[in-house]
Amino acid sequence: MNERPVVVVIGAGFAGLTAARTLRGVAADVVLVASRNYHTFQPLLYQVATAALEPEEIAHAVRGIFQRQRNLRFRLAAVTGVDFAASTIAVRSGPPVRFDYLILAAGADVAYFDVPGAAEHALPLKSLEDAVLLRGHVIRQFEAASTDPALIDAGVLNFVLVGGGPTGVEMAGSLVEWFDRVIARDFPSIDIRRARVIVVEALDRLVAPFDEQLRRYTFATLQRRGVDIRLGEAVTRVEAETVALKSGEAIPTRTVVWTAGVRASHLADALGVSQGRGRRITVEPDLSIPGHPRVFVAGDLAASTDAAGQPYPQLAQVAIQTGRHAARQIVKLLAGAPTERFVYKDPGIMAVIGRGAAIAQFPFGLRLTGFPAWLVWLFLHLMYLVGFRNRLNVLINWAWNYFTYDRSARLIMELSRPKETDHEP
Ligand SMILES: Cc1cc2nc3c(=O)[nH]c(=O)nc-3n(C[C@H](O)[C@H](O)[C@H](O)COP(=O)(O)OP(=O)(O)OC[C@H]3O[C@@H](n4cnc5c(N)ncnc54)[C@H](O)[C@@H]3O)c2cc1C
Repeated sequence: MNERPVVVVIGAGFAGLTAARTLRGVAADVVLVASRNYHTFQPLLYQVATAALEPEEIAHAVRGIFQRQRNLRFRLAAVTGVDFAASTIAVRSGPPVRFDYLILAAGADVAYFDVPGAAEHALPLKSLEDAVLLRGHVIRQFEAASTDPALIDAGVLNFVLVGGGPTGVEMAGSLVEWFDRVIARDFPSIDIRRARVIVVEALDRLVAPFDEQLRRYTFATLQRRGVDIRLGEAVTRVEAETVALKSGEAIPTRTVVWTAGVRASHLADALGVSQGRGRRITVEPDLSIPGHPRVFVAGDLAASTDAAGQPYPQLAQVAIQTGRHAARQIVKLLAGAPTERFVYKDPGIMAVIGRGAAIAQFPFGLRLTGFPAWLVWLFLHLMYLVGFRNRLNVLINWAWNYFTYDRSARLIMELSRPKETDHEP
């Protein structure tokens, strides 16, 4: 009979993967349940969407990652709920999974903030499918413009990015480069200056989490590279061929990319537990759910806060550290020891604006811009990519892109956007 306690980890993102790895060698059976059979490195999704990288280069099969972890079993399943009294999780198809300890790390979903038409017409950037669809969609607009140049006047080459946070900025920088260096050569009949990248940001600043000096650098760099930046401006409605702004302006476009925000995974709504801002699950200082000391929450799903009650941001590093902390608390409980408060060690934040241009904000006031920041960004992103093969491929691709100004395969692939539950066997 199996006497070992069962630790179930839900989600194979940064938080779930780190939690599962931290439990390696622990005298417990770990069951990792995720709705996709691979881990996605979300910070590089925009590079797939702009044909700088191929989808496979930023993803890794979960079974491959854990080949050597003897105490771990993977289950491809979409979790639909948790029965706290029975200590089981319900999955969409198949029998429930029993747990003694549970780590919830199902991440976040796109938040459209009830903007009319956004969910129907805007293009999200949250999954690999989103990125591949967006890449194909963008190329298709140029194909349409080359077939019928009158469509350019109708806004077919206007690309509107909603949200001037790091993702919107990275996407904008990469789009203009792709257009100027590659699309211009692919479509010689189109005057590339007619393609417009427009960033709409409701705040009066881009990349709000960064210091003013870095924000100014970002604004000036993007503007110099031809991005049209609208600050203090909000999207009020999205339609199939136009986007309406708070100021009353309507921009004709078929491409509205939604990078404006996320909310906790919809799984959170099904649990009957307390939720905070962005529907994130309220947690105790040790990351357990109030009243459920053997259930922990990590990553984007958790409303973890610092000692002053300030929520930690939804970032990869927070996910990694909360995942590790949750797993360590379970090891403590298994040993009969008390749990500890989670304290985030902020390693800094970075964003890339384009070729040779990035911003980096590190602890102790260290700030970098331009080429040095870009090099540090490249190095750190390579380091955190899962799998040696991915790292090597990405490095080769980046070097190729840098020296040849080329981009990888620019394929239009007909996919349909799946639901989070559609990957189950
Ligand atoms: C486009 C983009 C760019 C970003 N750029 C940066 C950046 O530059 N730097 C940075 O620090 N952060 C960045 N982030 C944020 C960062 O990626 C997230 O904070 C991080 O991925 C959160 O990790 P997580 O493990 O909580 O969730 P995720 O990585 O989202 O993983 C969630 C996991 O849960 C699974 N799952 C979801 N629902 C279910 C379910 N019902 N049942 C079973 N499994 C389920 C998913 O399949 C997935 O495996 C970016 C995010 C996006 C979308």
